[in-house]
Amino acid sequence: MSVSEAIAAPLKTPLVPRPDLMSGKPSLIGLTREAMADALKEKGVPERQVKMRVSQLWHWLYVRGVSDFDAMTNVAKDMREMLRTHFTISRPEVVEEQISNDGTRKWLLRFPPRGAGRPVEVETVYIPEEGRGTLCISSQVGCSLTCSFCHTGTQRLVRNLTAEEILGQLLLARDRLGDFPGLDAPANAFVPSGDRKVTNIVMMGMGEPLYNFENVKTALLIASDGDGLSLSKRRITLSTSGVVPEIYRTGEEIGVMLAISLHAVRDELRDMLVPINKKYPLKELLEACRRYPGLANSRRITFEYVMLKDVNDSLEDAKLLAQLLKGIPAKINLIPFNPWPGTNYQCSDWAQIEKFADFINQAGYASPIRTPRGRDILAACGQLKSESERMRKTERLAFEAMMIAGHGEDD
Ligand code: SAH
Ligand code: SF4
Repeated sequence: MSVSEAIAAPLKTPLVPRPDLMSGKPSLIGLTREAMADALKEKGVPERQVKMRVSQLWHWLYVRGVSDFDAMTNVAKDMREMLRTHFTISRPEVVEEQISNDGTRKWLLRFPPRGAGRPVEVETVYIPEEGRGTLCISSQVGCSLTCSFCHTGTQRLVRNLTAEEILGQLLLARDRLGDFPGLDAPANAFVPSGDRKVTNIVMMGMGEPLYNFENVKTALLIASDGDGLSLSKRRITLSTSGVVPEIYRTGEEIGVMLAISLHAVRDELRDMLVPINKKYPLKELLEACRRYPGLANSRRITFEYVMLKDVNDSLEDAKLLAQLLKGIPAKINLIPFNPWPGTNYQCSDWAQIEKFADFINQAGYASPIRTPRGRDILAACGQLKSESERMRKTERLAFEAMMIAGHGEDD
């Protein structure tokens, strides 16, 4: 049975009001152990009990994956009552779940307002592959950067996601994929990492993770905590458009794998494609990469390079690319451009992508071509955008027709 067959059917339940999400209570999800201890102390949990309570909660939240205090059977009833009165552990609201014909899943999630703001929506994507499953997580609602080939870049930044909301995407995905032991499982049950559906995380959804550093850091440290969700840091990749001042801190303080959205090898072109390049040009970016903590041949940086027809896909570009990365333990990920309604770019011809890849390979770099996944549900890289700014139905139908005509090989 393939991974996609093994997982639950698409969510069909109609949207029902979720008063739990509107309670305004603080969540226990996404707090560091210290912050959770402080929150418990503030509500009167005696000092001598706090450490033990935090361990219990950590286990229930992140190993067992419960989203209801009543499921915490080894926590005394009055304690559970106290927790329910003051805190929440709810999952985000699923507005829509779509399943691509290749098994990719996309969730449109809604988070309650923070302060005076409105509810916000983000997308999270699950990509099942042979022997692994990757969850693509969003870090912001919209993006303040305006990379010219990226759909998210056309949506203004609404706000940063909190650590709870970043982690909530992982918990929700694991719920929906059956990746937590069920409620009937014994109290010490867990799903061994080899049997899990979500084996890898990429911070490649909506937003620039390094413009939301603290929340991303807190969430990823919880995701990789060995007594909880236990994802290996080698299986977590953070992708940045090149926020140079935060790159060193990413290695030092979070310790996950790094991906750089390079896309061009000349400043003049990169200024147009990835405008943050005007602030942090190629030389500074590559210098920061060279200094990335823990960099080694066994821990290489991934350079993402979107293939845009007649823009950045010449063999001259390939040559410059190989020169530019000299001395950096690197792999190059060639991403066929994923079109979206209103874009003026086209994906490079397949033959040209292969020529480009061959050249890079011969120069000594692994350069896998990323197979586009979930294009039919607009779940592929750079296609994410939230419902509030979604295309109109007529626009969508025209777009889908275009996709079927132009990209039949993906179906
Ligand atoms: N903001 C971060 C992470 C999110 S974007 C960053 O820019 O790295 C994740 C990846 O998708 C980036 O490499 C981005 O450049 C790429 N991408 C964006 N739009 C794309 C598109 N239309 N087709 C293919 N890849 C795209
Ligand atoms: Fe933002 Fe990344 Fe898209 Fe650029 S590619 S607009 S940084 S999400």
